[in-house]
Amino acid sequence: MSKQLETDVWSLDRCAGCGLCIAACSKQVLNWGDDGRPFRESRTKNLGYTRVELDSCTYCQKFCAEVCPRLVSWNPIPAQVTVAAKARGPIDAGGPNDVIRSIVAAGLSAGLIDGAIMLDLDPWQLRPVVRTAVTVEEVASAVGIQGLWAPVFDALNEAVFEKRMAKLAVVATPCAAQAVRRLKESTNPRLKVYQDAIQLTIANFCTGVYREEMIDELLIKEAGIPVEHVRRLTISADGSWLNVTLWDGDVHRIPRQRAEEYTRAGCGSCTDYSGESADLAVGDLGSAPGWSTLIIRSRTGDAFVRNSVRMRLLETSSEVDEEVLAQAAAEKRGRDRAQAFDTLELLMLDALADPAARGEAIQQFARLYRTPTHTRTVQPLVNGCTGC
Ligand code: SF4
Ligand code: SF4
Ligand code: SF4
Repeated sequence: MSKQLETDVWSLDRCAGCGLCIAACSKQVLNWGDDGRPFRESRTKNLGYTRVELDSCTYCQKFCAEVCPRLVSWNPIPAQVTVAAKARGPIDAGGPNDVIRSIVAAGLSAGLIDGAIMLDLDPWQLRPVVRTAVTVEEVASAVGIQGLWAPVFDALNEAVFEKRMAKLAVVATPCAAQAVRRLKESTNPRLKVYQDAIQLTIANFCTGVYREEMIDELLIKEAGIPVEHVRRLTISADGSWLNVTLWDGDVHRIPRQRAEEYTRAGCGSCTDYSGESADLAVGDLGSAPGWSTLIIRSRTGDAFVRNSVRMRLLETSSEVDEEVLAQAAAEKRGRDRAQAFDTLELLMLDALADPAARGEAIQQFARLYRTPTHTRTVQPLVNGCTGC
């Protein structure tokens, strides 16, 4: 395995959880750990009377590191045009997921793609899933991206090698589009099969995704909302609220700050709000209610949007507040959580030299990583030990 992934990504909690390293691993030795990070399975062999660990990665060309979006820094692909959009036809609504589903459905109908791997929600269990959709009906019935973490590229090998899909759309978070960008920049011929298969990336505007425990602990236990009553989860356009829309139309609003502790750790160091590497990026910030903002960054993205408009499945308008969009993107670049991690590092360094600072470092660590906390107040003891 590439040591670089371990030292520069996993151990620093910078993994975005896209799953492309696992999909691209030539020997299938990478897997998901309980902590939501990839790990390499160790393989052993009896040699005489001893059991030795094998290095499964010998002779491998390190595909895992070749595709990881966290090992490079990204300049945004400039937007060609930004418009407001709403879905027309059978999906007659203006939410970001409606616009995305309409574009994908139009692409499928026109034969521009033969399927999509997309983040979705199992509405019965309220669990994030990755769906491989090959028909317009499957796309239309998907709920779409819901701000819960699922590794979208877990479906890539099945789509490419089992379902033989040759023209794929990837619908996911901005980090997945970054991973595709990294993949496309590779000159390794062994990755060509993936490069050729992925035709389009669509990303949502993203301030972070939550770990699945958020559903059980915040929604079910704390807010007392039964999962079967929940229709969808969305983040408010200003990013302040987690909106839980119920089937009867009621909306429960949970402060984002309250949900923050369930944010996937890798999102803490992410600076991409508006799908800066995707062909298309969609979100509700910047548009009037009932519309979504659609950023077109490539000729491919433009072709898909034109196709959707031509098929009367999408309506666009120029009414977009690009300033508010630019502001949100700039805020994420210098986002609080990333700074909070920086602060934690500084606090930990302080704590090495000054035992009195340990209490604050421990509390900051617990806030960010949601480690079990004790109710006692952490106070330095007389000799300076906090009893941690
Ligand atoms: S080095 Fe190769 S075999 Fe090892 S984890 Fe990476 S891709 Fe897999
Ligand atoms: S960001 Fe994606 S490719 Fe990189 S280590 Fe995490 S799951 Fe693997
Ligand atoms: S904030 Fe969004 S784009 Fe960034 S790593 Fe998290 S899920 Fe990916």
